[in-house]
Amino acid sequence: MTDFSSKKALILGGSRGIGAAIVRRFAADGASVAFTYAGSHDAAQALAADTGAAAIQSDAADRQAVIDVVAGQGALDILIVNAGALVMGDPLTLDADAVDRMIDINVRAPYHAAVEAARQMRDGGRIIVIGSVNGDRMPFAGGAAYALTKSALQGMARGLARDFGARGITVNIIQPGPTDTDMNPSDGPMAEMMHGFMAIRRHATGQEVAGLAAYLAGPEAGIITGALHTIDGGFGA
Ligand code: NDP
Repeated sequence: MTDFSSKKALILGGSRGIGAAIVRRFAADGASVAFTYAGSHDAAQALAADTGAAAIQSDAADRQAVIDVVAGQGALDILIVNAGALVMGDPLTLDADAVDRMIDINVRAPYHAAVEAARQMRDGGRIIVIGSVNGDRMPFAGGAAYALTKSALQGMARGLARDFGARGITVNIIQPGPTDTDMNPSDGPMAEMMHGFMAIRRHATGQEVAGLAAYLAGPEAGIITGALHTIDGGFGA
């Protein structure tokens, strides 16, 4: 456990999966938590009722909505951008609008959210974005567009770490490997193939990823910035 009792955290994309595990972890550790969601109204309300976190409907594909929701939180201590989309398939036949929407959610939203958060963020704040080990390694066909979104976050973190470092604000990317969520169920059709790339042949849990987020947001991680933190069972090893 980490003591976040005087900390204010915003999690973009918190209704399900890894984001919901992060909401639960940070709320349990005492943070004042707000999270956004897009379509999963019932799940968001249930999570809010369970944890005391505030649920805010806001589409990460809408740049102004992202900026508004971050600005509306005032001075944050912790911003975690988790919302992500996965569009995979043959690039010759993939729907171009779906690819562009994924880029909006996975790349443009984290950038604008991070910049907006930094305007009011308290010194020593934490900005964490959930990337993917696919930012480093894409070992099968059909993942080029998704991989490009996760690789883009790497450059963003390195640059923003320089921009905000003087204020003690850290900027880090968590890069999960296969993690058991609706996006990538541990009993899904791709699971066995993905386990074949791993040293520890199982999906991670959302709680394991949330634990790394808590560490990076916590007091021991103040010197860690501009860095990629892979949590993938050796998928990228
Ligand atoms: P899920 O699909 O299970 O959950 C996605 C979450 O993001 C939901 O809470 C969803 O909210 C929210 N979200 C999606 N689109 C939007 C949007 N446009 N606006 C606001 N919120 C949105 O995904 P995971 O938990 O698996 O993934 C979370 C992150 O981790 C993503 O960035 C993903 O790329 C990354 N990741 C996941 C891996 C995995 O194996 N699961 C591996 C590596 C990285 P709602 O349902 O309300 O729309």
